[in-house]
Amino acid sequence: MSGIFGVVSKEDCAELLFYGTDYHSHLGTEYGGMAVLGEGFARQIHDLRQSQFKSKFFQDVGHMSGNKGIGVVSALDEQPIYLNSRFGPFCLATSGIVENAEALAAELMKKGMSFSEVSPRSVNATELIAKLITQGTDLVDGIERVFDLIEGSCSLLLLHRAGIYAARDRFGYMPLIAGKGPRGWAITTETCAFANLGFEVVKYMEPGEIVLLNEDGIMQRRPGRGRTQQICTFLWIYTGFPASSYEGINTEIVRERCGRYLAKQDGDIRADLVSGIPDSGLSHGLGYAMESGIPFRRPLVKYTPGYGRSYTPPSQQTRDLIARMKLIPIKEVIDGNRIVICEDSIVRGTQLKNFAVAKLWGCGAKEIHVRPACPPLMFPCVFNLSTRSISELAARRAIRSLEGHDLADVSEYIDHTSPKYGQMVDWIAKDLGVTTLRYQTVDDMVSAIGLPRQKLCLYCWTGQCPKAACPHAAFDIVEAMKSSGKRKAMKDQVDQQQLW
Ligand code: SF4
Repeated sequence: MSGIFGVVSKEDCAELLFYGTDYHSHLGTEYGGMAVLGEGFARQIHDLRQSQFKSKFFQDVGHMSGNKGIGVVSALDEQPIYLNSRFGPFCLATSGIVENAEALAAELMKKGMSFSEVSPRSVNATELIAKLITQGTDLVDGIERVFDLIEGSCSLLLLHRAGIYAARDRFGYMPLIAGKGPRGWAITTETCAFANLGFEVVKYMEPGEIVLLNEDGIMQRRPGRGRTQQICTFLWIYTGFPASSYEGINTEIVRERCGRYLAKQDGDIRADLVSGIPDSGLSHGLGYAMESGIPFRRPLVKYTPGYGRSYTPPSQQTRDLIARMKLIPIKEVIDGNRIVICEDSIVRGTQLKNFAVAKLWGCGAKEIHVRPACPPLMFPCVFNLSTRSISELAARRAIRSLEGHDLADVSEYIDHTSPKYGQMVDWIAKDLGVTTLRYQTVDDMVSAIGLPRQKLCLYCWTGQCPKAACPHAAFDIVEAMKSSGKRKAMKDQVDQQQLW
């Protein structure tokens, strides 16, 4: 998962861009990049695997000047990409995943194109998208071409002398939000970047919508395709920052509501304190405490100085060591108490078991009741917005152990009213070594967010995704070509009025 930020200012924008991009550090862990357009392009990319965005880019800001710029904290590839094209030079930053990148790159290479950037995958997806865009009749047409041709998801910011073209992924898996402030206009993945920089949200972009930001304001270049929306539910449960809102719905408030639903399910549970696993579990725990009336306390605190979230040590052993070191138990809060502990989700369950539950028992907890804010995870993300694999999921390990083998059809284990679901949860509780375990239901999670169910991606829990959106569904190249043809007619009709 990557985060992108762009700004057009009446003055020099480098500092705004630096802080705005830095507010996306919780999303990416591999590379950071900034590009500014003044008299010419200035671009800088740094490896963030062993350090943090601010420390790497602090010196660069003084050497970049211009009134418009884009930035990215990237989960995979080096970006922004610079390309000198027939539409003029531009820089591109993207957020998403292109499943068919190799096939698309092979097609372009047949036409004589070359690729220069390195990537952990065989193709740098941002470079590929930049080159696909240049195949269009203009930049907007090229961006729509990308929407038609890729399998997966892609939101992007394109920095050009005309301004910043911002395009939200056609299914809207990741958000893109436009803002206005006294110094100009901005576009962001995370609205938490706006508050301290003086921007206010003016538009939650729709899936497939394309806008242009420049000194005149924000102009729509293509309307959205709102009915296809499938925004990632995990943004509210875990990945998003508490101060951020998506589709106008704040993350902290959703987490509090998740905690309230968990408490309602528990009825008259007897406990001495409620808490959460830092960081995101704390907001769920607060909601639980508010609903149940049980005091919120902190038996586990996270030591963040010196351990930035983006610090990713090279080996699993070192990562485990860091995870163990970060979470510190407070014996005086834990000893002799019955504890309800909320967690955003249980992926493998190993860190929860080894670094939280073990510490609570070790400090004298009398009972431990674990309450994850989402249902058991059954499937890895189809859009690779997370790194988990199916075999390592705690629910899948439970099913394998109960059945003696992996199951292709896990629908009985997904149904929270079925006996098999109960057996699976009991197995996970035993494996974690906790007194009780009770998961959130899909319905309560959806209610806590407050969007219609069909506008949310719930694939991680239900395994269902709409055929049109699913990269696992057969990709229909004929349909893609047809919609390419339809674009010309639409182009003449499109409303290019200034929005703000
Ligand atoms: S599959 Fe899961 S992580 Fe991926 S977009 Fe859907 S909800 Fe988000």
